[in-house]
Amino acid sequence: MVVQENKSYHTEESKWAAIAARDKGADEQFYYGVLTTGVYCRPGCPSRLPNRPNVVFFNTPKEAEEAGYRACRRCWPGTVSTADRMEDIMIAACRAIEQAGKPIKLADLAARAGLSPYHFHRLFKKIVGLTPRRYGSTHQAKRFRGLLRSGRSVTDAQYRAGYSSSSRLYEKTDDDLAMQPKTYKNGGKGMMIEYGFGHCFLGRVMVAATERGICAVEIGDDPPALLARLREYFPKADLERAGSGLAALIQAVISGIDSPAEGSGLPLDIRGTVFQQRVWQALGQIKPGCTASYADIAEAIGNPKAVRAVANACASNRIAVLIPCHRVIGKDGRLAGYRWGAERKQKLLAHEQKS
Ligand SMILES: [Zn+2]
Repeated sequence: MVVQENKSYHTEESKWAAIAARDKGADEQFYYGVLTTGVYCRPGCPSRLPNRPNVVFFNTPKEAEEAGYRACRRCWPGTVSTADRMEDIMIAACRAIEQAGKPIKLADLAARAGLSPYHFHRLFKKIVGLTPRRYGSTHQAKRFRGLLRSGRSVTDAQYRAGYSSSSRLYEKTDDDLAMQPKTYKNGGKGMMIEYGFGHCFLGRVMVAATERGICAVEIGDDPPALLARLREYFPKADLERAGSGLAALIQAVISGIDSPAEGSGLPLDIRGTVFQQRVWQALGQIKPGCTASYADIAEAIGNPKAVRAVANACASNRIAVLIPCHRVIGKDGRLAGYRWGAERKQKLLAHEQKS
């Protein structure tokens, strides 16, 4: 065994001092195992400091493993690179979330990965790009939308997607499909919204998104007016002009408008009451080229008397085209109103009929 030349850590006292100080400079110089846990670490490991009598020293990871110790999952002293190990762990966590069919507690996910909840959360977000909770709710919402598209009723889809009842849908996804009532009333206080512009066949498009998904799509003639609308929707949110980071999303929205397809699959950050959400979800069921009446939608959400409320919910839609409120027309075939202009509504419907 070749012991690395190092003058600082040649006594057990100096090694222990390095561990107690979590001295990263001592990493790779030696390793230590903890008798009570059977785990071995780098000296700079941020884990809880073991009791001195339980500590044994090794020169290499191999030596520690031969002595029956397993690599710590925080400092990864083993031979495989930390990044690779972490990626594997996070991929396994993603699969576990998908297969569970219902939300898994952060503490449980972290325990499975052998990490502290804080550490797990941070790494998950770094590697996957979403928080575990967000990943779970996105997956669930995707499943929910898939079930809805397959023709199930809203309540049946909720149940099958793992939401235990319609009230739970609101509760569980309050940070996902809907804004919490308080935040909603607060005008989006605490929200970070990025926005950008593009062109579609109806004119200028503004796409606004939070880290959760698209929260507004506006169509109009000039960007300042579109931005003014966004400010009106979310007066207290932080609005920021997006760099190139939003370009792909904007392009996807434009493609969705220009070539209508059933369900864009784009992530939406829907902010509204439970009732509004139900209406908006039902709107998504109207295929391009088809229309429905407000009464049809009221019927579809199991609330046939709520025609007026349905009309209001349609009028409150802020995500143009992706939530296809333009496919709802008056019972008598009149176009009825459209936030983005009756002329655009007519154009859109004609365009979808051709496509
Ligand atoms: Zn460690």
